[in-house]
Amino acid sequence: MKFRILVLLAFFITLLLLWPSKDNEKIKIGSKITDVIEIHSFGKDERPKNIILIIGDGTGLNQIALSRMAIGGLDYKLAIDQMPYTGFSLTHSHNNVYTDSAAGATAWATGVKTTNRFISVSPDKKELPTIPEILSSKDYLSGLVATSSITHATPAAFYAHIDSRYEEEEIAEQLVNSTISIALGGGKEFFDLDKLKDSARFISTKNSLLNMELGSSRVIGLFDDDGIYRSPNKPTQLEMTNRAIKYLNEQTESCHGFFLMSEGSQIDWASHDNDAEKMIVEFEDFDNTIRSVMNFVTADKETLLIITADHETGGLQILKQVDDFVEVQWGTGRHTGIPVGVYAYGPGAHLFTGLMDNTDIHKKIMSLVNDSEPKNRICK
Ligand SMILES: [Zn+2]
Repeated sequence: MKFRILVLLAFFITLLLLWPSKDNEKIKIGSKITDVIEIHSFGKDERPKNIILIIGDGTGLNQIALSRMAIGGLDYKLAIDQMPYTGFSLTHSHNNVYTDSAAGATAWATGVKTTNRFISVSPDKKELPTIPEILSSKDYLSGLVATSSITHATPAAFYAHIDSRYEEEEIAEQLVNSTISIALGGGKEFFDLDKLKDSARFISTKNSLLNMELGSSRVIGLFDDDGIYRSPNKPTQLEMTNRAIKYLNEQTESCHGFFLMSEGSQIDWASHDNDAEKMIVEFEDFDNTIRSVMNFVTADKETLLIITADHETGGLQILKQVDDFVEVQWGTGRHTGIPVGVYAYGPGAHLFTGLMDNTDIHKKIMSLVNDSEPKNRICK
């Protein structure tokens, strides 16, 4: 009996030793010409009317570096590379060196570090006011865009309060009852669509997103059951963000302004899967979104754009060049604890430099909010 167990054990150990180790992934180096973005220079006393926060979930410096090499080559400049102000952000949560997206987004939305999995409640489970909630009484409108379900941790932290990110049906109900004026993403399966249609205009197709007159009612657009599956029939982060900006800009002409958070959610998912090719596809949509919003900032001259990540995912390492390829290796299927980049452009952008905590991003945003009494009408 004992001998049989030993033989079995030896067999499994041999199998493990002989199991082919995963080759390092090779990514072709691209050769695109940099599309130079016109940058307007803002005075340090100028304040923004609108604030747009773009999040690359799981997007560490190496996700950006590898995408740069793959899209255009070693000296290519992505849109994010052309952001005029840069800094670093620490990412740890209340209880851990590594954060999840729930605690990471709670830090931006509320300025408080919380426990992983908690959505805009403190470690002792008290509700924390979020940026859209604070702004709703200050003559601003708010919007959210995500390529995940709109009830996923990052967007949820801007309107929901709950001690588990996985209660997505409850989070969906909190979105329907929230102060968010436009929400675009996936997650249809979590909503009671009858209740939703009583409180907002509901859209579910790419065609209606791009071509329908949205009017002045609240808008909730859900384009997939859960995360948005990337296909020509589904809207991209770029398309949803452009539509949300157009809507918010029109609705806030005589208000103090708007706040928009737009997340490239699936850069994180591809990094969890250690799939560099897919990560780069997701990153390209994120960078195209940044390019478009930078052009909006240059033309509009009243909007501040901030870009950051909640954490790095996958421990991505860029190893060496072999001919026209770059060899990469992943260190984990999980999140890591290293700092991430912060990028800013527009009035107030100079505040987002140096090393900051993720909670400081909330504090800097709130320091730029217009607190004066509204002149014309309360934004609703
Ligand atoms: Zn993740």
